[in-house]
Formats: sequence, structure tokens, C-alpha cells
Amino acid sequence: SRSWTLVKHFEGAPKLSDFKLVETQLQKLKNGEVLLEAECFSVDPYMPYSKTMMKEGDIMIGTQVARVLESKDSAFPVGSYVISNAGWTTHSVSQGKELSPLLKNWPDHVPKSLALGTIGMPGLTAYFGLREILFAKKGEILLINGAAGAVGSIVGQIGKIIGCKVVGSAGSDDKVEYLKEIGFDEAFNYKTIGSLAEALKKASPEGYDCYFENVGGYFADVALQQMRKYGRIAVCGAIALYNDEIPRKGEYVHLPLLFKELRMEGFTVSRWLNRYDEGLDKLMQWVVEGKLKYHEHITKGFENMPSAFIGMLRGDNIGKAIITAK
Ligand code: NDP
Repeated sequence: SRSWTLVKHFEGAPKLSDFKLVETQLQKLKNGEVLLEAECFSVDPYMPYSKTMMKEGDIMIGTQVARVLESKDSAFPVGSYVISNAGWTTHSVSQGKELSPLLKNWPDHVPKSLALGTIGMPGLTAYFGLREILFAKKGEILLINGAAGAVGSIVGQIGKIIGCKVVGSAGSDDKVEYLKEIGFDEAFNYKTIGSLAEALKKASPEGYDCYFENVGGYFADVALQQMRKYGRIAVCGAIALYNDEIPRKGEYVHLPLLFKELRMEGFTVSRWLNRYDEGLDKLMQWVVEGKLKYHEHITKGFENMPSAFIGMLRGDNIGKAIITAK
């Protein structure tokens, strides 16, 4: 098996020298175990939070879609596909407990890599965040930042399915074009607009009822001022802050919260662990019906995982960042 390990906890943004490729020999299978071969991998913004999740020298954490190569567990027959948390490793032995099978009746024409994106954790984050935190309703105005990414691009499309007016911001003109293609009513490049306040006002002069937050920091300071009365804010992520050792001082969030009577709530998707099947079924249905479009930013080759990871954090990806094993 080949694995990428963490050489040193990240200081600021991850760099190539923080990773090392190692080879290990796997043990023979015991009863109840399965041998997995990874087909594709996910890189996600939570991974720089490695200090609490892994030690230096450990295999990098992460999720993969894998095929069962050998099996001594009848629940996972040879040739079946699973989602595994084995991390950045090409082959692994698992006792089954931490594996989840791919959704039943996965259609052949739907790429299995979507189990790491649109029909996986990012899709569920969008689905439950919109439904259970924002309670977005038909006719409401929905703002999303990081809108062209794995989560954001799904939030916007589900927003359209619900009947919202959807506004998104992203970090390149190509991304803005993509957002328009997938049905966003308004989209802008936050890196080139000049005044963020003006761009938000232009996109929706009446303000925003719902705000799906992926970024935090300056964007939030400005956007909170433009919420409508009784607006809701779902804090899904704060990628602009993940590398900040000392968070900068922002506007006072209390003032818009108080005077506009807003509700701001953070969440992690695992809150709805026992409802994942409901969410995945719905996401699959929308994909099959063509109501939910997906785009994957695919990097070929396990050897390129660190650079793909760094690229995702830098904003290279439209849709979900995926790495194929070969
Ligand atoms: P994305 O596919 O959106 O990739 C990350 C994107 O973030 C980049 O493409 C880049 O796009 C943007 N970005 C990077 N740095 C900055 C910055 N300093 N300021 C603004 N934008 C930046 O990742 P995901 O869709 O997987 O994740 C999106 C967010 O959702 C993250 O904050 C993540 O932590 C969070 N999340 C939360 C979960 C939960 O359970 N609460 C579950 C999954 C994700 P651009 O070119 O637009 O800058």
C-alpha cells in the first residue's frame, strides 16, 4: 500500500514538504476483515485542522470510494463499493465497522465519485443546512459565499428547487459563469468587485433572508449588515479564518443580530447522521432527474494528492475536488 503521511503539523497554509509518501506491506486478512483498493479520494477544507485529528507521522485523514478486493465479511462482497475513512492510502484492511456501503441501486451512469461530493457529505451539508438551519422558503432571497465549491454549488441549486432567489459569490470569473449556468440568479467575483457592500446591494437591493456562510471574516462583516428583518444565517464554514492564528477584529455582529432580530446558528452535518439516507436518496433523485447538476475538479493520480489538496484550498476547483487513484 502507498500512503501519504503528515510530516509536520501545518503552520499556516499546507505546503508540499508537509507530506511524505510511504510504502507499507499489508497483513493477511483475518475473519471479519476486508481488503480495499481506493478508486478516488476527497480533499476537504477541514483537513488543515490536523492537530486535533492526527499526529505527525500518521496517514493523512480523509474519505475515499474503494472497491472490495478480498473479503472475509459477507456484508461486503468482493467487487462491491464502499465509502471508507482510511485516509490518503491506496490499499487498506478494514474491519467493516467504519465502512458505509454505497447507496443501494446506484445507477451506472452516475459516477461513484459523487459519493464524496454531491451525493455524499458535501451534498448532505447543503441539504440539511438549508432545510434544518435556514428553513429557506419559496420567494426568499438566499446568499451563498464559496458558492462554486462542493457545498455552495449544491446549496444554490437546492435553493432554486425550493423557489428562492439565489445570489452567490466566488473567486474567479469562470466560477461566476459556472454559477449562472447552474441557475444562480446573480453571481459575482468577490476578488474583483471592488466594494463588496455595493456588489451585495446590486445583486439584491432588498437584502437577504437567508445566508449560507462558508467563508466568514470580512465577507460576513459586510453581509450581516444587509440581512433583512428576521433573517437566518447558517454558519457552515469559515474558510477565510482557518489559517488565521489570531483572528482579526471585525464589525460588531451583535448590532445587526439585535436590530434585525436575526438568527445565526453553526452546524456540522453529522448532527443528522441518522437521517443521511433520507438526504442521499433525495440528492440522488435530483441528480437522476437532472435538477441537480454536478461538476468535479478531477486530479489524476495518487501521487498528486498534496498538490490537489493545496489547490483546493487556493480555490482551483469548480465543484468538488476529487483525486483518482490512477
Ligand atoms: P470548496 O469546494 O468550496 O473548496 C474550498 C473553496 O473555498 C475554494 O475553492 C475557494 O473558492 C474558497 N476559499 C478558499 N480560501 C478562501 C478565502 N480565504 N476566502 C474566501 N474563499 C476561500 O469546499 P467545500 O465545499 O468542501 O467546503 C465549503 C465550506 O463548507 C468550508 O468552509 C468547509 O469547511 C465547510 N464545510 C462544513 C461542513 C459542516 O458540516 N459544517 C461540511 C463540509 C464543508 P474561491 O475561488 O471562491 O475563493
